[in-house]
Amino acid sequence: MTTNTIQAVRGMNDVLPEAGAAWDHLESTVFDCLRRYGYRPIRMPLVERTELFVRSIGEVTDIVEKEMYTFTDRLNGDSLTLRPEGTASCVRAVLEHNLLYAGPQRLYYSGPMFRHERPQKGRYRQFHQIGVEALGFAGPDIDAELIVMCARIWAALGLTEVSLELNTLGDLEARLRHRSRLIDYLQRHRSDLDDDAHRRLASNPLRVLDSKNPALQGLIEAAPRLTDDLDDAARTHFDAVQAILRDAGIAFRINPRLVRGLDYYNRTVFEWITGKLGAQSAVCAGGRYDGLMTQLGGKSAPACGFALGVERLIDLLEADGAHVPHRAPDLYVVHQGDGAERWAWRICERLRDQGLRVVLHCGGGNFKTQLRKADASGARFALVLGEDEAAAGKVSLKALRHAMQQVLVDVDEVPGLVNAHHGRIGAMGNTLRPHEE
Ligand code: ATP
Ligand code: MG
Repeated sequence: MTTNTIQAVRGMNDVLPEAGAAWDHLESTVFDCLRRYGYRPIRMPLVERTELFVRSIGEVTDIVEKEMYTFTDRLNGDSLTLRPEGTASCVRAVLEHNLLYAGPQRLYYSGPMFRHERPQKGRYRQFHQIGVEALGFAGPDIDAELIVMCARIWAALGLTEVSLELNTLGDLEARLRHRSRLIDYLQRHRSDLDDDAHRRLASNPLRVLDSKNPALQGLIEAAPRLTDDLDDAARTHFDAVQAILRDAGIAFRINPRLVRGLDYYNRTVFEWITGKLGAQSAVCAGGRYDGLMTQLGGKSAPACGFALGVERLIDLLEADGAHVPHRAPDLYVVHQGDGAERWAWRICERLRDQGLRVVLHCGGGNFKTQLRKADASGARFALVLGEDEAAAGKVSLKALRHAMQQVLVDVDEVPGLVNAHHGRIGAMGNTLRPHEE
């Protein structure tokens, strides 16, 4: 009898060990940058009440209209949703635990998000974001800090092909003025709109500007601009953000068409885009969302944040040929005979104490098979423990990736010898796919 094997759900991917090294590298590099600015980690559940996303993201958005994984809790009938983004959950957590009582908060989180989109390169149904939120800060300085921090992240990752697009959505009154001008304009061009745009014309006209339909791009380009309606406070805020960015030497392009796909943004919005990933060009998006706290029933507080798209950044690391340290083992320990095996266990632990990555051969076999495994492991050295070595109280160190005479040494000499070769071999092995060279 045969049974079909079970496959992963469409649009939800495994990250296999080969790619895992780049993921680890990306996360640790980004987290390190964020900590340097005083951001602290927070973790929220993957599942929230559906109402949270409807109220924060907005009813008339792609996400809420058609992308959420929503289900009913079978016991109590509650409507629950797999989180499509992190900001709403983060703000909920901050309000629920009254974190702003202790003053403004700089926070970050990381993890999977779920959106029922059409899967394609750079667009998945489970994807990952690293999210950053600065809550309780009203000034343009924090908007700029978020952007400066992004620039540091790109530099730390060795990414060169990302550029910054900036816009302001103004404040409520300006948005209302703009909204009515926009509705007039769209009504005049009714016959050119697609179905989505028709619906949004009535419910949420700003979203029409967010359409990805190529046929609408000319119309969108000529639409009334929000920047023409700005009031003084929002304009001053936006000018100040730009001034800090200029001082920091960060290039940007003002894109008056940049409106984010979520309802809660106001004032500064930004995206980092790349020309190297085809249609899915945004690797990071964010902005200010001063109204969200009250929208979620909390005390009013200003806030802004951004989210990095991890899959797209991983693709970009590869497309950009960025340096990804590969974490092959330093040593693979082979052994023959009972005494040697028991000794091998102790030696491995001792070398791990000293910071080396050490794989102990498991599963027996003769030296030849074991050394073949050593080679396949990608390790730079094999440590050979046989009867000769056991009798001499020494170990044989054999280079697997470069020419070097096999040497019989004391265990404590091993870290020095391995590290002496680190720079040279490390540079050679630093690719996304260590085994392809
Ligand atoms: P897009 O316009 O590409 O749909 P979005 O405006 O819906 O993006 P945000 O909600 O701002 O995206 O999410 C921030 C970042 O997360 C995006 O810039 C992108 O890098 C990434 N991202 C969003 N949706 C997906 C997805 N379905 N698959 C992979 N990455 C995604
Ligand atoms: Mg989207």
